[in-house]
Amino acid sequence: MLILEDIHTHYGKIEALHGVSVEINEGEIVSLIGANGAGKTTLLMTVCGAPQASAGRVVLDGRDITKEPTSQIMRSGIAIVPEGRRIFSGLTVKENLHMGGFFNTKSEIRKSQEHVYELFPRLKERESQRAGTMSGGEQQMLAIGRALMSKPRLIILDEPSLGLAPLIIKQIFEIIGKLRDEGMTVFLVEQNAHQALNLADRGYVLETGRIRLHDTGANLLVNPQVREAYLGG
Ligand code: ATP
Repeated sequence: MLILEDIHTHYGKIEALHGVSVEINEGEIVSLIGANGAGKTTLLMTVCGAPQASAGRVVLDGRDITKEPTSQIMRSGIAIVPEGRRIFSGLTVKENLHMGGFFNTKSEIRKSQEHVYELFPRLKERESQRAGTMSGGEQQMLAIGRALMSKPRLIILDEPSLGLAPLIIKQIFEIIGKLRDEGMTVFLVEQNAHQALNLADRGYVLETGRIRLHDTGANLLVNPQVREAYLGG
């Protein structure tokens, strides 16, 4: 579904990604793990064309989208949940969700909203609450819910577990599993390697702008190098 082929991405003269190749097949969860500064966010953002790859190709459903503007890419069935959530804190839960359905018709918005409320009953309970007054976990649910409003086929999540308590993390990961069960494709970036690999069909390990390992999630979980570097030995 999504092929990243030998991606190089620069910030000015500095190259952050040095030829990264990743493949994501329809209906699977692919996790990308790596330490701070490895280039995980840069890779996700390169998929969205901001920044654009300076070399290599991003191919979505056989279409080369490497040089397409972000606005067009975001209308191609991809939704992103950015690191730090970036919800509109002054708007209510419902208003935030409707922002996510910006390109959709009213009846599509209604359907998507129902779907989001089924996945996250907490958001329905709080639909009139200002998003900025919600807990970190609730805000993460809202960020995911907002991304789902556009009915994406591929959802990209940048560190959804960041700063959350273990119980909430468990819930968030359960929801991600449920999305896959509903047929969605998931590209998950995480520092929480254990949970991310446990959930993933396949995983990639990114180190200083290069893929060091890729395998099934189950194999990576028992890989000695992964255990040593990312799973606490
Ligand atoms: P983290 O887990 O800390 O978010 P990451 O793996 O997502 O890290 P990136 O944020 O992609 O890593 O950063 C990769 C490299 O690119 C780092 O060296 C970082 O300093 C650099 N970088 C990221 N964003 C910019 C930017 N806007 N301008 C210049 N350099 C950047």
